[in-house]
Order: sequence, then C-alpha cells, then structure tokens
Amino acid sequence: MCPICKIRNNVVKRGFYRRPSDQKKVQRYRCKICKISFSEQTYAIDYRQQKRGFNQSCFLTLCSGVSQRRAAYIFQVVPRTIARRVKKFGEICEKNLKNYRENRAKVNEVEFDELESFIHTKLKPVTVPIAVEKKTRKVLALNIGNIGAKGHLKKISIQKYGRRPSGRLSALKSMAKDLQTCVAPKVRVGSDKCPLYPKLVRDHFPEASHHTCKGSRGAVVGLGELKKIVFDPIFTLNHTYAMFRDNLKTLSRRTWATAKRKDRLLLLLNIYAWFHNLWLDRKRAKPRLEVFDG
Ligand SMILES: [Zn+2]
Repeated sequence: MCPICKIRNNVVKRGFYRRPSDQKKVQRYRCKICKISFSEQTYAIDYRQQKRGFNQSCFLTLCSGVSQRRAAYIFQVVPRTIARRVKKFGEICEKNLKNYRENRAKVNEVEFDELESFIHTKLKPVTVPIAVEKKTRKVLALNIGNIGAKGHLKKISIQKYGRRPSGRLSALKSMAKDLQTCVAPKVRVGSDKCPLYPKLVRDHFPEASHHTCKGSRGAVVGLGELKKIVFDPIFTLNHTYAMFRDNLKTLSRRTWATAKRKDRLLLLLNIYAWFHNLWLDRKRAKPRLEVFDG
C-alpha cells in the first residue's frame, strides 16, 4: 500500500537495499500513481530504529511486571530507548485494538468496571475504565481519566495540587463509544452498582440489558480485586484486572515504579491489553507484536 495515496495494488517492486544494522535485504517498492518509493520497512514496527533485535523480547518483558529501568538494564540500552519503544508499541497496540474491535464478530456479553491507580503520587489518582468480553476474557476497550483523591488524602491533595477537574465521565463515555463498534445491539452488560453506570449504558447501548451486582471497591494497593469475595459475579473482569496489576509494573501494589505521565500510562495499558489478548490465544501462536489490520 502506498503511504501517500493509500491505494493498494498500485505498486511495483523496485530493487532491494541492504540494511546496515543487521544486513537484512529489504524490498523496495514504487507507487505507479504518485511515483514515490518506499519499502517493506515503511510499515514495520522497527521502522527507522537502530536497535531492532530486542523489540519482541522488550514487548514481552514490559508485559511481565518489569519496570522500564530494569528492562533497559536487561537489554543493555539507555532508559530513553525503552521509553521510545513504549511510545511506539503503545501507538501500535492502540491501533491494533481498534482494528480488532472493528473486524471481530459482535460480542454478546461484556463486563466493565474501573481500576484505580495514580500518577506520580496517591494524591493524583486516575481511573481506568476497562471493558472485557465475558466469554473469552479479551480486553475490548479502555481509557484513562483523572479523579479526585478520597478520604484523608482529599484535603492534602487540594492543598498541594489544587482541585483537579474530574475526567471520569468523559473517560467512561469514550470507552463506551469505542465499545459500540464491537457489540451486538442486544448485548448483555455486566457491571457493579455504581450510580453513574445505568445512564451510561442506556445512552450508548439503548437495547442492551444491564445487569449489576454488588461490587467491592478495589483498593489502590493489595490484590484487592480478587480477595474477600466468595462468589464473584463479575469474575472475568476482576481476574483481568488482577492480571493487569500483576503484569504492569506501574499498576502493581506498593510499587516504586510509579507512572509519571497520564498519556504514557495509557500507552502502557494499551500495550498490556494487546499482549493480554494475544496471550489468551497463546496456544495458536506465541505473543508477538505485529501490526494487526483485521
Ligand atoms: Zn501513491
């Protein structure tokens, strides 16, 4: 596909070049319409990278509870290189999730809830709404938004950082909007009894049936989502949340590795969500980061 005019099947092969970093032969192409040339690398995940050999292991490592600094140490690169990979991988995974939603069969049963974490300090908490398919546990959509601190932290938070406008509703809405592309009209939606949810479900999925159950509020530390409860009606969801917490270093409890930026945390969440979906299919193929277009 031509990167300029975006038309498929209008390109011809135009020789090779040998890539200096690993001596690989790369096929070049030329577009018959706009006459520009490009190569098979143009769409590759390692386009214009110097250190490309560790991309796949870096992807697996970042999704296995390793901090970015430790990943840099393991692969003997500077932390900046890992930070750049997080950005690149996050953007790819976000697009992959979008393509996955648009191209998969319609989902009949979803569950959603919010996971709580924070940026930099517990005085700046964020909420992470995540929706999963009940049958397969696959992540369908997620987002992130600022929320106000609770309890005794509320006063200190306002003193130190001022009132932070709540991004909770807009994060929930944009997650629901993403979800619209992949669910059947008469979808069965499961969630806890949060008072915000019934209106959200009615607005975005008018024909859906909404089933709520009493949820225990997940704590910001400890494997809160999975303990205490004997029978858990939204087990699928809480199990997925526990996997997010265990495998993303910034979400794990009592961690030193706190997220510093909301946008970067969202990238990491997208990376893990895509990894999670690949992981569930691991019997078919080992998780491998590739561009997915349906
Ligand atoms: Zn073209």
